[in-house]
Amino acid sequence: MINIQDSPSHALPLPAVLDTFDTQKTGLSSAVAMARLRMVGENRLPQPSAKSMWLRLALQFHNPLIYVLMVAGIATFTLHDYVDAGVIAAVIIINALIGFVQEGKAEEALKAVRSLMATRAKVLRDGQQADIDASLLVPGDVVILEPGDLVPADLRLMQVKNCFVMEAALTGESVPVEKNIDIVAVEAPVADRLCMAYSSTLVTAGYAHGVVVATGKQTEIGKIGTMVSDEQSLETPLTRRLGLFAKQVTLLILIIGVFSFAFGYWVRQMPLLDLFVAVVGLVVAAIPEGLPAIVAIVLAIGTRVMAKNKAIVRRLAAVETLGSVTVICSDKTGTLTCNQMTAETVILPEQTLNVSGLGYAPKGDFFKNGEWLDVTLAHDLQSLLMCATLCNDAGVEQNEEGAWELIGDPTEGALQTLAAKAGVDKLNLHQRYPRLDCIPFESEHQYMATLHHSQKGEGVVLLKGAPETVLAHCQRDLSGPLDLERWEARMAEAAKRGERVLALARRILPTNSTTLSMAAMDDNFELLGMVCMLDPPRAEAMAAVAECQAAGLRVVMITGDHAITASAIAKQIGLNASAILSGEQIEKMDDAELREQMKTVDVISRASPQHKLRLVKALQSLGELVAMTGDGVNDAPAIKVADIGVAMGNKGTAAAREAADLVLTDDNFATISNAVKEGRVVLDNIKKSMLFILPTDVAEAGVILLAILGGLSLPITASQILWINTVTAVTFSLAIAFERPERGVMQRPPRLPTEPLITKLFATRIIIVSALLMAFTFTAFEWELLRGHSLAMSRTTAVNMLILCQMAYLFNVKYFTHSSMRISAFIENRITLVVCGVMIVLQALFTYSPWMQSVFSTEPIDVASWLFILAFAILMFLVIELEKAVLRTFKVQVI
Ligand code: ATP
Repeated sequence: MINIQDSPSHALPLPAVLDTFDTQKTGLSSAVAMARLRMVGENRLPQPSAKSMWLRLALQFHNPLIYVLMVAGIATFTLHDYVDAGVIAAVIIINALIGFVQEGKAEEALKAVRSLMATRAKVLRDGQQADIDASLLVPGDVVILEPGDLVPADLRLMQVKNCFVMEAALTGESVPVEKNIDIVAVEAPVADRLCMAYSSTLVTAGYAHGVVVATGKQTEIGKIGTMVSDEQSLETPLTRRLGLFAKQVTLLILIIGVFSFAFGYWVRQMPLLDLFVAVVGLVVAAIPEGLPAIVAIVLAIGTRVMAKNKAIVRRLAAVETLGSVTVICSDKTGTLTCNQMTAETVILPEQTLNVSGLGYAPKGDFFKNGEWLDVTLAHDLQSLLMCATLCNDAGVEQNEEGAWELIGDPTEGALQTLAAKAGVDKLNLHQRYPRLDCIPFESEHQYMATLHHSQKGEGVVLLKGAPETVLAHCQRDLSGPLDLERWEARMAEAAKRGERVLALARRILPTNSTTLSMAAMDDNFELLGMVCMLDPPRAEAMAAVAECQAAGLRVVMITGDHAITASAIAKQIGLNASAILSGEQIEKMDDAELREQMKTVDVISRASPQHKLRLVKALQSLGELVAMTGDGVNDAPAIKVADIGVAMGNKGTAAAREAADLVLTDDNFATISNAVKEGRVVLDNIKKSMLFILPTDVAEAGVILLAILGGLSLPITASQILWINTVTAVTFSLAIAFERPERGVMQRPPRLPTEPLITKLFATRIIIVSALLMAFTFTAFEWELLRGHSLAMSRTTAVNMLILCQMAYLFNVKYFTHSSMRISAFIENRITLVVCGVMIVLQALFTYSPWMQSVFSTEPIDVASWLFILAFAILMFLVIELEKAVLRTFKVQVI
């Protein structure tokens, strides 16, 4: 049976390899493959070991706040203040646990998104080509490789055509190597085994068939175990920036702490222990320790929402960048349009025919000047359809429900349907004219050619492609010498309707050659005619383009189609088609000229992937933040260089997906604009988190600082501050991470990632809120004392005041400047309501449970106190709403 271990497949002749793996050139049957899968296991590479749970937990203690707390805990313990030491110990543990759980949640969200990105493989099963999850491959399977594919397992190649493979992942060699099927010596190093294609390497050009000789851990890459980890880290530029900000603030706070300690001790002559514990409370309250963690959570939630909306984020940092994108460069076909080609017009040398029917169903008729046409008599049409059928790799089949489905490229599918409408017998044609060789279609050369053998023994080359390219190869058409101007005018007429035009031609070879090369494509072809096909714009893309424009984003359409077609479609979609640049023009320009052009041009025609890279760079040099879509292997460099590389999940190659930051599972432009919107929501929520956390931290610390400086008794004790800080971190701050989009997120211009974290207005809001929170807390405390209540009760009221005012502010912060004075502000985010509920229960326990009373020195408060607190919480809410109203009047944004 199968000798999977070390069979030197590279040194064995093909029949021996097939024998070893008990398979044939036509592949395995599904039953055999299933049995083998059970025996050898799934084709998965061992994942690099993730950080263990314990290590992750231990790392939570590696944090400046925890250090401060630990020092404070030890000090209070040595000073015999066991209650405060106990509270500090509890805070340390709770903080670490919060961080641990939050990080775990964020990582889980990312993992779930990653698992949506399984690699696929094209395989022959039961003699038919099938597209399966690459993890289901087994030794003996026959795999088909195409440009842009990631090789899914180790393969012994059986058939190759100009197949180049980039093996950098395995050998470090950065130039693609050309594969062949010749055996090599047993001891040949991996890099020299040209008859093999190894797992995780990338097909950059050409085609191949190979038999799987090793899967999973048995593959070369599995054996050396150097698989580059593409695990996402939770760190992004923004979390790093915030981490740095938090560290700087921590340092400042420590200095303030030392200063206030010295002031309290020498100037106010406070008792050492009380003063120490108060300063610890101050420091802990002021450190914005939760900020980086909250940001990671907001980002992770963003990726989950995007995945639900069909955009998979491959790099967490992309979520931030998405919110700041200023230009989206999008392919036309399939992204802005439906990718549902229907041939509507056939231009023949002496007549033009219209064709009825929509979609891929072979139902429709041919009309000439509105009159039904008997196609059997139209020999010119028959010649063109023969070329359309044979120079074609697509298939159109009826599925079980009776619907007609396309297999392969839509442009070619439209031609198959067109031929079927005229009753062309595809099988019969293929038997009479077997294909000997083929130059597949690529955007770079814009044509496809096939070589066939006729029964008369002649060779026939069939050619189809972009009209300019095909016409350049033609001397004549079926009716005589080529009238180039007339053909161009006929083509332009169709293109003006937004139709994609393809020209078809043929050449009879005098000799019976068996291979076809690009060099042999001379200009002796005979033009058969042109086919014009319609690919309607996606309705949702039109709406999305309008949304992007309202959001100050430029949408640039890049298409392989003719300028006239491009212009017509651009207008239908609502793009600025006043100026168009073609691939040919781009080639003649230097970078400076291109940059100048890209200030105004939004439509690029006859573009090939190479142009995309220059376009991205030109736009970036204009200061734009560019998102670029792509699907082919040659799109990968542009996708990589773009600030946001977007790959198509359906029609895209693995090469494009590997290079991308974002993968669209539905290939739809509207999904990009939704992702940008979600990116903006993420940025907004991060800013809102800051807008909440910073003033509440400042207020908590400020209350203690003011008391020390003023020589007053503390309105809130240090352990009470620790309580407030800890409970609000798991409730209020977290709720903001789940805020939904604000009205108008897509109606304001994009913000640059270089913008300062805290703008002037942002700082003003922080100061106002901090001042109000502090003033209200002191007021509550003094009012209770004035009413003759105990210090403990006055402090309990002060704590509840601080918390309830924070709660009120939580509803203000939902919108930067929009009013929160409506019911929806209170009910639209259920998580906010839940955390408020939790907080009320916690505060009730804090105030009324005897156990908490003994730990935190609290006392029950009466109804009058609650009413007093409630009145001030409402006042807090109203004052901030007033500030927002002022900002709205002057039309200024906080962020
Ligand atoms: P877009 O860039 O808008 O997404 P695209 O990538 O589909 O479009 P290309 O595939 O580069 O554009 O097509 C460019 C031109 O090549 C088309 O206008 C058409 O004339 C021709 N063409 C497209 N597909 C084929 C094919 N399968 N065979 C021959 N010619 C083709």
